[in-house]
Amino acid sequence: MFKKILIANRGEIALRVQRACREMGIKAVMVYSEADRDAKYVRLADEAVCIGPAPSGQSYLNMPAIISAAEVTDAEAIHPGYGFLSENADFAERVEKSGFTFIGPTPESIRLMGDKVSAKQAMIRAGVPCVPGSDGALPDDPAQIKRIAKSVGYPVIIKAAGGGGGRGMRVVHTEAALIHAVQTTKAEAGAAFGNPEVYMEKFLQNPRHIEIQVLADTHRNAVYLGERDCSMQRRHQKVIEEAPAPGIARRLIEKIGDRCAAACKKIGYRGAGTFEFLYENGEFYFIEMNTRVQVEHPVTELITGIDIVRTQIAVAAGEKLPFTQRQIQLRGHAIECRVNAEDPYKFTPSPGRITTWHAPGGPGVRVDSHVYTNYFVPPNYDSMIGKIIVHGDTREQALARMRTALAETVVEGIKTNIPLHRELMVDASFMTGGTNIHYLEEWLSNHVR
Ligand code: ADP
Repeated sequence: MFKKILIANRGEIALRVQRACREMGIKAVMVYSEADRDAKYVRLADEAVCIGPAPSGQSYLNMPAIISAAEVTDAEAIHPGYGFLSENADFAERVEKSGFTFIGPTPESIRLMGDKVSAKQAMIRAGVPCVPGSDGALPDDPAQIKRIAKSVGYPVIIKAAGGGGGRGMRVVHTEAALIHAVQTTKAEAGAAFGNPEVYMEKFLQNPRHIEIQVLADTHRNAVYLGERDCSMQRRHQKVIEEAPAPGIARRLIEKIGDRCAAACKKIGYRGAGTFEFLYENGEFYFIEMNTRVQVEHPVTELITGIDIVRTQIAVAAGEKLPFTQRQIQLRGHAIECRVNAEDPYKFTPSPGRITTWHAPGGPGVRVDSHVYTNYFVPPNYDSMIGKIIVHGDTREQALARMRTALAETVVEGIKTNIPLHRELMVDASFMTGGTNIHYLEEWLSNHVR
């Protein structure tokens, strides 16, 4: 096992990985920007290295600075967390070329899955069902593009091969709007992702977002850890996640889960990963794979009892997965609310000093957050300041526990989206379960005065 790991991230996930290291008897090195200098998790680290000023381009995305930090501290491996460099194949390659272990899949896997066109083709070869659409990237010829759209059937969605974070997508309802939409998306994709390639998919009208968590080792073992329902989204960003997904038959999950685990073996995948699907009328359609730990991993940890971050570290060190598929049992129900420093209804960011932070507790309540009273939320990064996660024997109990937890939580000095979560936890449709990916936006347009 490693003796020392460098954590190339910040905020709650940096603390989450640090906790796993501590539990495993591994020393944790934190890197931090000048904006995070005083954070408690930085102070708590075994060692900490400043890697640059606040803007992430000069710190958390600064590959040479991070690799030098690993060199000077004699770390053996680098955990990238999520976001920042976690899905950057060049970074993974540089880490390994410099003699460190990258806690994640191989650069080849990251590259394959990072390009949505090559990812989809690999999934089709591996027998994973995909959204019907163009066979690879769209050609330049407008007549050919129109032909493809006609055979896919309107509405279609034009998506950038290099897209991510909900950006680089455009829905097209009619042939008249098609060519202009393709050209605009291409131009935007070229500028934003350095890759103008786009592809086409059928635009599903009312799907749910269901994803499968996988874990794979370097001994050709791969398992899936059930599913998560992440349909409560705003602008393609997840707000609430839960596991299991309400109302989907276990045999359907088992079938798709087995396909995902088999695909991992087929592509030589290692570490943690997530296959994201749209689910409509009893069918799953692959949309993309995330080759890293996800924000919402705790809901899966709570229903399986498996520590995903610990397992990531263990398989990176060459260990075998300590369980087989048959040993993975799901128990109860878990829900996660992402706590963001933002106006709960206008969604404008609300950075600044937290004057009071009172976190909830009690049976089945887990809070993953790096903040505390007097913590200053820097304006430079993502607005998420933590996650409240609950577990119950049933979905009803989990909902009740989340309501209690949200009622106990006090955050003063900045605005958060906790009032929004309180309302959603008593919303009749959400309480029934199975709402689709448009539900939250529709709810907001009906409820926000
Ligand atoms: P990103 O990498 O930017 O997150 P995804 O491919 O995962 O992009 O898609 C993000 C979201 O966009 C999905 O969760 C869904 O809400 C919507 N979306 C993507 N593809 C389709 C599609 N074919 N039909 C309907 N909605 C889609």
